[in-house]
Amino acid sequence: MKCEVEWMDRSMHMYKRVDILGVPFLQKKLRDTVELITRLILENQKIQVVTANPEIVMMGRRNPSYMELLKKADIITPDGIGVVLASRWIGEPMPERVAGYDLLHALMKEANAHGWKYMLVGASPASADGAAAKLQELYPNACYAGHYNGYFTKEEENKIIEHIKKEKPQLLFVGLGAPRQEEWVARHLPKLEVNVAMGVGGSFDVLSGTVKRAPEIWQKLNIEWLYRLLSQPKRWRRQLLLPQFALQVLWNQVIKREK
Ligand code: UDP
Repeated sequence: MKCEVEWMDRSMHMYKRVDILGVPFLQKKLRDTVELITRLILENQKIQVVTANPEIVMMGRRNPSYMELLKKADIITPDGIGVVLASRWIGEPMPERVAGYDLLHALMKEANAHGWKYMLVGASPASADGAAAKLQELYPNACYAGHYNGYFTKEEENKIIEHIKKEKPQLLFVGLGAPRQEEWVARHLPKLEVNVAMGVGGSFDVLSGTVKRAPEIWQKLNIEWLYRLLSQPKRWRRQLLLPQFALQVLWNQVIKREK
């Protein structure tokens, strides 16, 4: 299906955000987040969406340029129960976790309903092919405009950018892992005519079936992080950031109360 769209410059919108260790999170449920993004797409806005878990917040605290990028992102959703719990501890509760994988599917449902165009960049060649095939199968009325794996040379990257420029998709999903995907989007989005560019971590691996997402019961019990740790033990080093995140949030609260 061929879809043409017109474009408008990026503009600022006001919505309530919660500051967690310097990272401004949107205080909305998944459904309301999708409604907001859909409206922005229909208004032809250009936005960077970040789905941030405690690891991403801690990466920002260790890397000032990444933190600056996070602060400039248009929408940051709480992609981890740790972030939701932290918002409760500081008395500004976020209603629920908004995981990147769920947001990707919710936006693809909208793309299917509106006939929007989408492109994918990231993951291994097998995962990228599998994810593209799966999305076309699940959302046949959305306009598939191409996909690229995430192991490209500088030369190939230029070709990817040219293709995105030509296609002007409403949705660009980038699965290069954090922080690279956010940095990649921030670097290229200004010159692209894309409405929503969003980092999706390992979502293409899950879509293609290369990696299994935690069973629903683990997700409902808010222990998806534990499932990931058990199924991908090499992540343990990254997950050490979780207790550090919790301690930092609690410590900041103690300091605030003492003042
Ligand atoms: N990846 C990639 N190019 C790279 C490094 C990683 O496309 O140079 C992909 C990798 O294949 C995987 C994703 O990025 O699909 C990272 O997944 P992960 O679950 O680690 O995401 P994160 O937890 O960092 O968001």
